[in-house]
Amino acid sequence: MVLAQLGGSISRALQQMSNATIIDEKVLNECLNEITRALLQSDVQFKLVRDMQTNIKKIVNLDDLAAGHNKRKIIQQAVFNELCKMLDPGKPSFIPKKGKTSVVMFVGLQGSGKTTTCTKYAYHYQKKGWKPALVCADTFRAGAFDQLKQNATKAKIPFYGSYMESDPVKIAEEGVERFKKENCDLIIVDTSGRHKQEAALFEEMRQVSEATKPDLVIFVMDSSIGQAAFDQAQAFKQSVAVGAVIVTKMDGHAKGGGALSAVAATKSPVIFIGTGEHMDEFEVFDVKPFVSRLLGMGDWSGFMDKIHEVVPMDQQPELLQKLSEGNFTLRIMYEQFQNILKMGPISQVFSMLPGFSSELMPKGREKESQAKIKRYMTMMDSMTEEELDSSNPKMMNESRMMRIARGSGRHVREVMEMMEEYKRLAKIWSKMKGLKIPKKGDMSAL
Ligand code: GDP
Repeated sequence: MVLAQLGGSISRALQQMSNATIIDEKVLNECLNEITRALLQSDVQFKLVRDMQTNIKKIVNLDDLAAGHNKRKIIQQAVFNELCKMLDPGKPSFIPKKGKTSVVMFVGLQGSGKTTTCTKYAYHYQKKGWKPALVCADTFRAGAFDQLKQNATKAKIPFYGSYMESDPVKIAEEGVERFKKENCDLIIVDTSGRHKQEAALFEEMRQVSEATKPDLVIFVMDSSIGQAAFDQAQAFKQSVAVGAVIVTKMDGHAKGGGALSAVAATKSPVIFIGTGEHMDEFEVFDVKPFVSRLLGMGDWSGFMDKIHEVVPMDQQPELLQKLSEGNFTLRIMYEQFQNILKMGPISQVFSMLPGFSSELMPKGREKESQAKIKRYMTMMDSMTEEELDSSNPKMMNESRMMRIARGSGRHVREVMEMMEEYKRLAKIWSKMKGLKIPKKGDMSAL
């Protein structure tokens, strides 16, 4: 079950329970059984699911809950907490600091997405003003250097590698030395993979590690193996000092939830997840905001991160002020569309906002959604200042809509459709009036 579907199933189960007039043992059991089924379909280990169910039942003792207690909220909070516990992998052994040189070595099996992930990781930090560099010490897989070179060139990240040299240790050493001299603060070493965990792979990893003395070793693994991730993560942990894990291909595989929980069970800290083939389909993994998003409750910290990335510093306080006023004008919608177009994959951005589930902005239909946003913006370009600054949709009468349609060369039906969308968004944002942007993962504020 793909993650969005897993999240959808769990939130549907919670919703159904909320709809019941009386929440009794039977309703709670039905809800927990639904959640159990969804988790097992995602290949989460049976024992983890059973423990979760037992814990929730222990916490939510319906007999002891006096009338007046909000049972629905207590159950939701318990499910949220237990999912967080199941997925909490602990903290990484080392956190690189901007401006201070760190060497990060990537290890993993061939095909896990290691080379792609190295560039995504570098690109993530480059966007935040770091000076990353890539070293290709994968001499085992033909084409690895070309792939890294291509990706690095596209992202304008310096790289080092060789077509001639076959000794990965030598390349790694030379590359790290060179980028240290160039004052790069994040030197990323991509090492070889193999198809299986075998002695030769672990020996090579050990040698490259000895030569480059990495501050952090990141193990990259493919989520499609589901709960088998437990054994793979253990095997790598025992052979090299894995300080953090990145789980890839969380976008397309049925077993993502299983893989994440299995890695967490080995207490290997997952720091990012890969959610697609493109450079920016890469997300920080932070357990509370992640579960919050999974359950369609939004992820304020992720959204704020994005805002800090793309909205100019001097405009940030003003935007936050507007958001908390809950006074959603067409001009704010226009400005938000501008931001969203800059933010990268829009399905990713929308999934961080409560009310915008990934079902509304489906992955794979981003081009369509993007075109729609641009169309709306063209129509808004034909509005008057007064129209843009009004938060009263009634003002937009037929003659105004006809004028806007003519001015933007669109059909009046499309202007009406945009106004419907505006009303829908305004309704969601109006709920945020007076909202204090919550701390990471604090679902009670949502
Ligand atoms: P390596 O052998 O471990 O270096 O693997 P590569 O980086 O060459 O990746 C193997 C394949 O997985 C490539 O086709 C990548 O585009 C793809 N890939 C990597 N990460 C992701 C991801 O997060 N999602 C999806 N859908 N594909 C990915």
